Parts: sequence; structure tokens; C-alpha cells
Amino acid sequence: MSGIILEVKNLKKYFPVLKGLVFMKQIGLIKAVDDISFTINRGETFGLVGESGCGKTTTAKLILLMEKITCGEIVFDGKKIDQQSDVDLIEYKNSVKAVFQDPYSSLSPRMRVGGIIAEPMVVSKTFSHKEIRERVSTLLDLVGLHPDSNNLYPHEFSGGQRQRIAVARALALNPKLIILDEPVSALDISIRAQIINLLRDLQNKLGVTYLLIAHDLAVVKHMSKKIGVMYLGKLVEVAESKRLYRNPLHPYTQALLSAALPSHPDIRQEEIILSGEVPSPLNPPLGCRFHTRCFNAEAVCSEEEPILKEVEENHQVACHLIKI
Ligand code: SF4
Repeated sequence: MSGIILEVKNLKKYFPVLKGLVFMKQIGLIKAVDDISFTINRGETFGLVGESGCGKTTTAKLILLMEKITCGEIVFDGKKIDQQSDVDLIEYKNSVKAVFQDPYSSLSPRMRVGGIIAEPMVVSKTFSHKEIRERVSTLLDLVGLHPDSNNLYPHEFSGGQRQRIAVARALALNPKLIILDEPVSALDISIRAQIINLLRDLQNKLGVTYLLIAHDLAVVKHMSKKIGVMYLGKLVEVAESKRLYRNPLHPYTQALLSAALPSHPDIRQEEIILSGEVPSPLNPPLGCRFHTRCFNAEAVCSEEEPILKEVEENHQVACHLIKI
């Protein structure tokens, strides 16, 4: 079944900044995620990229309901997620799982691997003991681990193997969407490709959808069908992966791609060096948030905020200078 599985509509997350010892007073708002919208198709990977602090991990936490949404909507499998309805939430949380960056801290050191993978099934109370035992061994096989691994503890495994355990646990309830938050960045370069290949194989076999959050553009390029580029809480460009890499339109995307390693050592590419630091989300620049670092900025850029709009099929950009 194809079509949209996740729709994020005008999502915002503002964190209040408080000051004072006894009587706390709000002195501002950190606009970590500020009015972003995107869709993910079933069985595909949507990559979310940008510098650290741009709001991509907060976006993941909002979708995982680990943070309360300030405003906006999440529509999953055609159904608006109602954070007040316990029944909806249980179903949603079983359908949306995550694999985090650090396989060392995301697995309980006191539990055996079998228990770690079985935990979501035990909590769901919908599996018999026999079913759980069988499913654990199926999942170990799926992620390429020996069946005897279930009796061992996480410290007896390498980083790559621990990430395989984390993937097996995420798959335990047969989710429709897995959020991969920097899934290989804590691993040795030599084993990153193995985990990426495993994730791709699992997607082909199971039809699971991924939201991939990563700062490594090579990882995102290899896995994603579509990519969203974030800057200071905003989506500045969304396009199909091939189109984005071939023809990045937003100056920030151009700078990000120019700083990534070329796909072939013979390819020469000029790096665009951005001046200055990313401004604080507590006090983002008026107009286009990128104008303080943009090499193409004009007067209008500091006055009016550009809207993310479709400039060609499946390619949206938020920049005053890109005309339709
Ligand atoms: Fe640069 Fe202006 Fe486009 Fe923003 S709107 S990216 S400042 S050219």
C-alpha cells in the first residue's frame, strides 16, 4: 500500500526561557521548531538534515510524543493524533518507534539482550511467552545476530552489534515508522556501511518507513528518497534526494552540500564557507533567518520572511531570490 503515512502540519515547539529564583518570570521563547510541514510516503525514507541545534531532534521528539507540541498537527496513517486519547496514543506509540544515536546508553546494561528485545512485547501484553520467545529469535536473525545472543548482556557486544540489538527492539511490535536519530554517527566508520545496509535491507523486506535524522549528508543521500533541510527551526528546502543533490537551490543547502565529501575523489568541488555562527533560536534574525550568513542576501531578505513554496514538481524552497 503506497501513499502518505505521516503528515506533519505547521508543527511548532517553543520552549519558554525563565528567569528568577523564587518568582520565575518568562523572559523569552526558544523557537526550536517553528512552523514546519512535510509528508513521508509509506515504505520510503525521509531525511532531515541541518547543523546541530537546527531543530531536527526536537522534530523527532515531537513526532515520538516525547515533547508536548506547542501547536500544529501530526496525522499518522490518515488519522490526526489526539494527545488526549489514551487508546489512540497506545496504538500510535506501538506504530512509531525509534533508534537513537548512542547504542551504549540506549540499552539497559543490567538486562540480557533477549529481555531488552522482548520488553515492548511484554509491555503490550498481547503476546504469549512462547510467541515472545519465537519473535525474539526471529528478530535476532533479521538483524544478523546469533540466536544465542539473547542470553548475553549489551557490554558483551561491539558498538555495531549493539545498534543491531536496538534495531531489533525497535522492530519488536512491527512498527510502521521508525525514527532513526543519527543511527550510525557514534559508530566506527568501518561498520557504518554495515548498519546502513542492514537498515535498507529491513526496509525492503518489511516495508517499514524511516524518518532519518543525520548531519552526515552521505548517509542521508544513500538512504533517503526525499530530504528536508532545516535551518534555525525552519525547513528551507524539501526535494527528492537526487534532485536536491543535483540542483540545490537554497544557499544554505548549497553550502551544506559543498562542505560534504564528494562522491568520487576525482570530483572537484568548491567549498562555500559560511561566515559567522548560527544565530540563537531565542532571538532569530527577522526576515529570512539565514540572511546574516547568506552570500546572496539582498535588502528584502532582512525585512520579509520567505515562505516555503513549490518551485518545480517535488521541490520546495524558502528563498526570495528563487522565482517560480
Ligand atoms: Fe539568502 Fe535572501 Fe534567499 Fe534568505 S531569502 S536564503 S537571505 S537570498
